[in-house]
Amino acid sequence: MDISTTTTSSTTPPPPLEELRQKNPAALTRVDSILGIPRKDINETYKMGRELGRGKFAVTYLCVEKSTGKKYACKSIKKVRLVTEGEKQDVMREVKIMKLLTGQRNVVELRDTFEDKQCVHLVMEYCEGGELFEKMKSKGRYSERIAAQIISSIMKVVYCLHYMGVMHRDLKPENFLLARRKILGFLPCFADYTLLKAIDFGLSTFIDEGKPNQEKVGTAFYVAPEVLRRQGYGKEVDIWSAGVILYMLLTGVPPFYGEKERDIFYAILSADSVLDMKNHPWPSISNNAKELVKKMLSVDPTNRPSAAAVLKHEWLKGNGVAVENPRESVLLYQMRCFRGMNKFKRLALEVIADIVPPEELEELRAMFTKDGTDESGTISHEELAAWLGKHGSDLRPDEVKGIVEAADVNGDGYINYKEFITVMMNYETLHKEEHLLKAFKHFDKDESGFITKEEVRMALEKHMTGDELTQTIEDIFAEVNETGDSDYDLPSNISTEISDRSDSTLMQ
Ligand code: ADP
Ligand code: MG
Repeated sequence: MDISTTTTSSTTPPPPLEELRQKNPAALTRVDSILGIPRKDINETYKMGRELGRGKFAVTYLCVEKSTGKKYACKSIKKVRLVTEGEKQDVMREVKIMKLLTGQRNVVELRDTFEDKQCVHLVMEYCEGGELFEKMKSKGRYSERIAAQIISSIMKVVYCLHYMGVMHRDLKPENFLLARRKILGFLPCFADYTLLKAIDFGLSTFIDEGKPNQEKVGTAFYVAPEVLRRQGYGKEVDIWSAGVILYMLLTGVPPFYGEKERDIFYAILSADSVLDMKNHPWPSISNNAKELVKKMLSVDPTNRPSAAAVLKHEWLKGNGVAVENPRESVLLYQMRCFRGMNKFKRLALEVIADIVPPEELEELRAMFTKDGTDESGTISHEELAAWLGKHGSDLRPDEVKGIVEAADVNGDGYINYKEFITVMMNYETLHKEEHLLKAFKHFDKDESGFITKEEVRMALEKHMTGDELTQTIEDIFAEVNETGDSDYDLPSNISTEISDRSDSTLMQ
């Protein structure tokens, strides 16, 4: 077995050159560029400081922004270490996923990216409290209350990732940092566990329902049995790893242990029989906690609860941290994504929102008619601001206004039900092939199998005119040509150079 206690990266072999050339001629002219951004010297903007930590591909340093004196963390990934195409794609994906997670409180915020001859640098928010792992080592067992707080932060991140169609694949306490140290008078530092932040999305990958994943990745203690069996696996592997963390928080020891890696794997594969919940300290742990741990560590992945189910579990409720409707925590993220899209993409989403059968949208409808909305079924920016505030957002009023303006497709100053659905549709709904195909056909008026500039113009004419229209069309096409290769601008990368084959429709 080649799973080691350290993280292993994916090893997709590079595609043949000819295939690459056909797909994206531009890619071949930027051989040594990973992110495809202009080279910039990071030392002009930041002063690099001491090392904070290191892994297989990267070293993370403390750095200080010269103009403000603010501290950040910079993960510098050495390009020579990225040998295979798969490894390069891992870095691109890591950046993309961090960008998608912007605004999620329990994820470290990516501030800037740089690329020079030697390295890719990811400048992110600095977490001064250090790794959760270190805290767990020195603390041993946690009270159920604190364990519940920690696991709810972890599960919020997992929920968000799964909602976006991404699985993390490397959840472990080393990859969660404490944003702050709480200093209480003269006492030593007390950790503030409410501000736990996920880092390291280096092994995260998009979930492809059609193709079960077979790569062996992850870290021995936390790896799920189906990954070891190599029979294909899905997002349930993250629930397993979170279950291992929960077990460790409650007991202070890992559930599956052995002198050799082989022994750990053996214990994992026979988890149903070896999971010990009788000996110390289990008798003093609540039944709800036991039940949750047992469920999360079911050998059969289909018996594990979803991230949403964990967040609503009785045990979390009993400890005051249950998240009743976890989807609300992704609203902000969805709205930000939407705001960053061009008008054509927004229209495309609107078309899809129209063709999705109502039963697929039940949950969203319930959310729209609950808090934050009035009888008229619209949300104003004041209502949205109040609602977001209640859910822990600290957006400024002008930012909220910007979000409402972006979501407000018909321009009446409010978000109505349809606009809300358009913004909030999740990855699965959006990417159903039949929906994409219908939306594609909606724009491809002459049924040529391509969406032309003229067709984009026809779609946009109702919404803008003159220079704005011409410029928008140019921007859309420039964007598609730039990112038509492998870019995955969830939820809406629209390729205009697409054939009528159903697997390469409107969005990739
Ligand atoms: P790798 O992919 O090499 O494992 P990570 O992103 O996990 O890299 O970073 C390695 C280590 O660097 C972390 O375990 C942590 O100790 C430290 N580190 C990473 N990001 C930050 C940050 N934002 N703030 C403080 N320390 C960090
Ligand atoms: Mg790491």
